[in-house]
Amino acid sequence: MKIENLNLDKKNNKLSFILKDSTEAFANVIRCFAMDEVPVLAIEEVEFHDNSSALYDEIVAHRLGLMPIKTDLKSYDLPEECSCKGAGCAKCQLKIILKTGKRGIVTASDAQSKDPKCKFVYPDMPVVKLLAKQKLELVATAVLGQGKNHAKYSPGLVFYKHEPSIKFDASKLKNEDKQALVRIDKNVFQLAGNKIKINHEALLQSLNYEACIESLEKLGAQIENINNFVFHVESWGQLDPKQILDTAADMLINRLDELAKLLK
Ligand SMILES: [Zn+2]
Repeated sequence: MKIENLNLDKKNNKLSFILKDSTEAFANVIRCFAMDEVPVLAIEEVEFHDNSSALYDEIVAHRLGLMPIKTDLKSYDLPEECSCKGAGCAKCQLKIILKTGKRGIVTASDAQSKDPKCKFVYPDMPVVKLLAKQKLELVATAVLGQGKNHAKYSPGLVFYKHEPSIKFDASKLKNEDKQALVRIDKNVFQLAGNKIKINHEALLQSLNYEACIESLEKLGAQIENINNFVFHVESWGQLDPKQILDTAADMLINRLDELAKLLK
């Protein structure tokens, strides 16, 4: 097994890499652990002291629940694994206070987190619009949770596809076919003079990947899946993409250790 890095886009929280000489089962277990097991903070309970906005308490609470919170995995435990046994303590709960009466859009930046390391990721995310004399006052409790229990606890989107091996004789292509290919994705299909070249790396990253493959097949290309997997990790912002994968790998190792102990 080998890994070849393709692209790290820190600003947009994205990471792509190729997992080489592996199996579909292994690729899928990494995907599942990353999306369903890696825990992140999200608001689970909201105590309203005042809400004279146009939105019901339930709607405001639901919105708050979906707003990503920067997560420091070292400082928090899952409530069910905490020493307080789920009663709630500083190790498993984060309080976020939102108290405002200002007219206009209330955004994530109006909220105050008790832990400066763990606050809403996107300060401009809107919560509700207040008119004159309307108020919002609430205390929200965030806890660690896992994507398998609720999508708000998912750290991001992780997906992969097989790397294709493409056998294609472009020399007999008609001019209009070449032009059609270039129109699908000019980064993937590059026309130099009369010859068309496929940029393999651009193809793996292309948003038009399916359309490129389909068109190549129609033009007689032989396409086979090889045992390399092109992974894409897109974080929602609570953890960075590398942290998601590191944590997923640690959790997988722990689970296997547990299995080995039980088998003894
Ligand atoms: Zn606790």
